[in-house]
Amino acid sequence: MHLKAMTLRGFKSFASATTLRFEPGITCVVGPNGSGKSNVVDALSWVMGEQGAKSLRGGKMEDVIFAGTTGRPPLGRAEVSLTIDNSDGALPIEYAEVTITRIMFRNGGSEYQINGDTCRLLDIQELLSDSGIGREMHVIVGQGQLDSVLHADPMGRRAFIEEAAGVLKHRKRKEKALRKLDAMRANLARVQDLTDELRRQLKPLGRQAAVARRAAVIQADLRDARLRLLADDLVRMREALRTEVADEAALKQRKEAAEAELKAALTREADLEDEVRRLAPRLQRAQQNWYELSQLAERVRGTVSLADARVKSATAQPA
Ligand code: ATP
Repeated sequence: MHLKAMTLRGFKSFASATTLRFEPGITCVVGPNGSGKSNVVDALSWVMGEQGAKSLRGGKMEDVIFAGTTGRPPLGRAEVSLTIDNSDGALPIEYAEVTITRIMFRNGGSEYQINGDTCRLLDIQELLSDSGIGREMHVIVGQGQLDSVLHADPMGRRAFIEEAAGVLKHRKRKEKALRKLDAMRANLARVQDLTDELRRQLKPLGRQAAVARRAAVIQADLRDARLRLLADDLVRMREALRTEVADEAALKQRKEAAEAELKAALTREADLEDEVRRLAPRLQRAQQNWYELSQLAERVRGTVSLADARVKSATAQPA
């Protein structure tokens, strides 16, 4: 992987656009203390997506923007572009040269670009993922670390080499994986115990399930039977209602007829009462006549009996 060039604009101490061109092999940046050598390394990490302000030796990410000097006011944005030679096709993109750019504004906004096209940080991480550079892949040996590398014992040196080769990371992963494996084994044993226990419980559970299934069938039958009975009741009630409605109509008719008869009878009664009232004097007269005639008849009958008696006595006396 050959980094061809890096341009810094407003990044840390690099207020004006500054381009560093790297030739194949080793590049050395030489300068007095505080001249900004480490800022170049920070720019390299930052453009490849570094997210920790502390790794960039700042308190917050905004500290990477040129903060101004006595002779120059602060800037509002920082920009770093890194040009990578891709003539060997190491990066999965159809360009012989790839420039990745990161821009950050003082108001918090930020932007990533690949060959001038805006993209996401994820796109840059994916682009670099097979290249050996990018997040958690390249190794930056910091100031002072070189001294400890040179003076390290064989074990220490091995640790440095392993770290640089990325072995340490894998060893840690391996240890973590082994710990996980042990935990998994313990879990597996617990699962096995549980399985055995469940298997023991399976038989009675099977019986209970069969009973439950039968109960469900019986409940369904019961529900059907109830529904059929209710349907029968409904039909019968509808029939009874129809009959009662018919009976009610007939009774209504009969009631109307009886009421008409009653009305006629009342009229007739009134007529007869009128008649009685009209005939009452005649009745009284007839009764009077009957009484007088009875008295007369009584007197006649007395006279007749007297006459008979006299006739009898006259005929009985000797002449
Ligand atoms: P040393 O060799 O002593 O470590 P160096 O060459 O690595 O020094 P750096 O640490 O890279 O120097 O740079 C430090 C300089 O960068 C300081 O002068 C500091 O003021 C300047 N600097 C850092 N951040 C900013 C910023 N945001 N704006 C302006 N200047 C900055």
